Amino acid sequence: MHLSIVIPLFNEEESLPELEAWIRRVVEEKAYLYEIIFVDDGSKDKSWQVIEQLAAANPNVKGIKFRRNYGKSAALNRGFDMAQGKVVITMDADLQDSPDEIPELYRMIAEDGYDLVSGWKQRRYDPLSKTLPSRFFNAVTRWISKIQLHDFNCGLKSYRVEVVKSIEVYGEMHRYVPLLAKWAGFERIGEKVVEHRARKYGVTKFGLERFVNGFLDLMSITFVGRFGKRPMHFFGTLGILSFAVGVVILLYLSIAKLIYQTYGIADRPLFYFGILTIIIGTQLFVTGFLAELVTRNAPERNQYLIEKRIGGES
Ligand code: UDP
Ligand code: MG
Repeated sequence: MHLSIVIPLFNEEESLPELEAWIRRVVEEKAYLYEIIFVDDGSKDKSWQVIEQLAAANPNVKGIKFRRNYGKSAALNRGFDMAQGKVVITMDADLQDSPDEIPELYRMIAEDGYDLVSGWKQRRYDPLSKTLPSRFFNAVTRWISKIQLHDFNCGLKSYRVEVVKSIEVYGEMHRYVPLLAKWAGFERIGEKVVEHRARKYGVTKFGLERFVNGFLDLMSITFVGRFGKRPMHFFGTLGILSFAVGVVILLYLSIAKLIYQTYGIADRPLFYFGILTIIIGTQLFVTGFLAELVTRNAPERNQYLIEKRIGGES
């Protein structure tokens, strides 16, 4: 199969028939072997019935329905599990992304050799309250990840299938799939300007809390990316530093006390600071050990390492 199109959706019943018809028109013109995977993220409206009807009419339509709303990341993750095409394209269900972009996104993966191509909504049809924070958010993400994309959170992206099978999108990490891909070793990340359209039906599913959550996720993902496999290097370093500062302070106070003998050691404010840093240092150390135990327990820790092999196939 050439192409899997993964579409996460939550209460998008009005958009789905139009979306499916449009995608079908585009991909059948190109004669791709394709599948459309609708992932219904616990919709409360008639989305799932609509998907059932579409699947009855078009055998290339597949679907999963979640029991409740788990979020866009979980929906993408499950869609990725299911995808069988060599190229996987994700798009939003709300008709803000245009299916006309599919052939070029497909070509850039299949022929230009990109691992991941992200859409860039250069002209956006969204309110200013969304576009302004989004610029800031993209600048910070660019700076932290060193990936030169303008628009990390664009729903329209295409991937080599190995990429989506190697990453785990959870929480609200759908905003950071390019970072996940890069850290999994897929470095050929490209960008394509895509057409963006105003929402035709329904309402946006993300409020202003998207920005707070987005930044918290950026912090955790940065941490996991840098130290997820060796947390002791992070906590241990800080712990040793803090502990050492405390030891130096207390040694200094003790020696000074021996020489001058003029004050009770607990009268010096520095004394408490020294104790504080020793306690904090110990706690950081213990946190580091615990974190190491947690990572040792992650069953998938050594999966997806291998790109190619000669012999030894299991
Ligand atoms: N979505 C989802 N689960 C959620 C929230 C959103 O599957 O919990 C889907 C939604 O149906 C749409 C896509 O994610 O297909 C993008 O959502 P939306 O258009 O509301 O985001 P915006 O365009 O406002 O960033
Ligand atoms: Mg939208």
